[in-house]
Amino acid sequence: MHKHHIVFRSQGGLDFPLNYKIYRGYDDHEGMNGPHRNREVDLQLKRELQNELMQLFTNTHYTLREIADKLDVKEKYLDQHFKRVYSHQGKYLRMDIIRKLMGGKLY
Ligand SMILES: [Zn+2]
Repeated sequence: MHKHHIVFRSQGGLDFPLNYKIYRGYDDHEGMNGPHRNREVDLQLKRELQNELMQLFTNTHYTLREIADKLDVKEKYLDQHFKRVYSHQGKYLRMDIIRKLMGGKLY
């Protein structure tokens, strides 16, 4: 089993289940048709993730607790990574959340 980060860690990707894709073997993951060598496959996965996040976060803003619940991660983990994301009275804007989860850019 190979756990792939759709937004790579090196691209600012975080550890949350939606950002994982499980591959059965090395070839699917690292081979010529896998996301590390095929840019189209990589981009397709990223666009799908972005769409899922758009559907998951539909309100204008969320607290860190709410974001953590939706992503199925610990609030403490997100807190480390959201320090530089703009917030107002403890609330983060929808598109700032999605951009952060996509590694700082939109696809
Ligand atoms: Zn990978």
